[in-house]
Amino acid sequence: MPGPPRPNETADAATPGKADNASADGATRFHQDTLEQDLYRRFSRKGIRNQRVRRFYSSASWHLVVQTSRLLRRALDVMVSALALIVLSPVLVMAMHLAGGKWKRTSRVGRWCEPFDQLSLALPKGALGRVISATGFDRLPALVNVLRGEMSLVGPRAAAPGELSPQQRLARRRYDVRPGLISPWWIRQRANIAYGSEAESDAEYIESQSLRGDIGLMLRAAPAALFGGPAGAAADVVKLLGLRVDNLTMSEAVESILALMDSEQRSQVAFVNADCANIAFRNHDYRSVLNDARLTLADGIGMKLAGKLLGCEIRQNVNGTDLFPRLCAAIEGTDRGIFLLGARPGIAEAVREWIGQNHPGVLVKGIHHGYFTPEEEPEVIRKIAQSGASLLLVAFGAPRQDLWVGEHLGETGVKVAMGVGGLFDFYSGRMPRAPLWMREIGMEWFYRFLQEPGRMWKRYFVGNAVFLYRVIRERLRSQHS
Ligand code: UDP
Repeated sequence: MPGPPRPNETADAATPGKADNASADGATRFHQDTLEQDLYRRFSRKGIRNQRVRRFYSSASWHLVVQTSRLLRRALDVMVSALALIVLSPVLVMAMHLAGGKWKRTSRVGRWCEPFDQLSLALPKGALGRVISATGFDRLPALVNVLRGEMSLVGPRAAAPGELSPQQRLARRRYDVRPGLISPWWIRQRANIAYGSEAESDAEYIESQSLRGDIGLMLRAAPAALFGGPAGAAADVVKLLGLRVDNLTMSEAVESILALMDSEQRSQVAFVNADCANIAFRNHDYRSVLNDARLTLADGIGMKLAGKLLGCEIRQNVNGTDLFPRLCAAIEGTDRGIFLLGARPGIAEAVREWIGQNHPGVLVKGIHHGYFTPEEEPEVIRKIAQSGASLLLVAFGAPRQDLWVGEHLGETGVKVAMGVGGLFDFYSGRMPRAPLWMREIGMEWFYRFLQEPGRMWKRYFVGNAVFLYRVIRERLRSQHS
């Protein structure tokens, strides 16, 4: 059966004696050509053969890429775990002989739900045992599981049998890969930024798994181990360097703010990081405002370390930037509106646009920049009061924003007002946020320093050292008293 003619042949056949009119017929001819080429490619014997060859090569090369990456990952697992076992064997021997550690086998479910025994060290409760457990060295024997191919260096936490139902769509993703010694969820928990669920974090990891990503996670394990474990039984309110801090997780903070928005009273919410604590140390008014605020939330890795050193674990890093989208999601579709006050002219407008795109059900009742004069201030306050907003976000930077809220909360008519620092700059796109890997190693502050070294060097390099000094001094004092 004669199929459609080959394109080269048709070019001549379709235009016999019409060479002069070629440009006039250009569009039609082009259409004709592509149609014929298309039919030729799809239905001719040669076209079909070419398609098969192409499909074969593309699937073979895809297979090759996947297999090579699997092989490389396994080779890395074997090499690193063998090396780590050799180098760290003295620690293991010491842990077993000096601290009285014993081998422990725990039933776990591996890749494709294959059961296996995860090895670890069971340590007695002595001081040495506690130090070894705190640094995660008691998990070292699991390197043998990695060598055996039951585990990987990086992957979702090995689940106990029956712990997770493979029927759950998100949870079952974890069984596609080997469980890992270092899990992305564990890293986030240690850095106090584990806001979502473990299943979400695992699914996200499996989706974007790569050799490079795994190496990055391995490098992040050392700082994560230093940050210490997630808070156990932590107090609801803690005192750090003379500041009262509400020790809430991110979702508890969102819930509390929602409840405050529904209450009859007006409330101030404040965030404190190491820099704020330094300012509050010498600024009495600011300290009073923070201590009188209805909610004072711990922001940043500095507060977590301070909590650790002072024996009061901080549950989570509750910073305004991560809280904001969660709060938007919580008030979306309700009649609780927001007023955005602060940052340079044009920035609040861009934040309103971000809200419109990401949370279209959120009512933005008004906006105003943060560079108004004292004479203009009454007009700004009147604008907020007339907007009918329930929540006021004030982005002037600390301590000014919190002092301002403390002074004017009553006049604004809002239910909740909170100082949010550079938040508008992030959501307007003016300033990029530190990448997740930097936040996971507790280095968001360093990224911020790189963005504005001239303004930030003192805040971070001098400020962090001073903050740490004060924390250590407070710890020593509390030990002596
Ligand atoms: N800002 C303002 N009015 C002022 C001074 C500053 O609105 O008079 C804004 C500034 O544009 C920036 C924010 O306040 O958006 C301060 O950001 P910064 O990063 O200093 O705050 P932090 O989070 O460090 O407290």
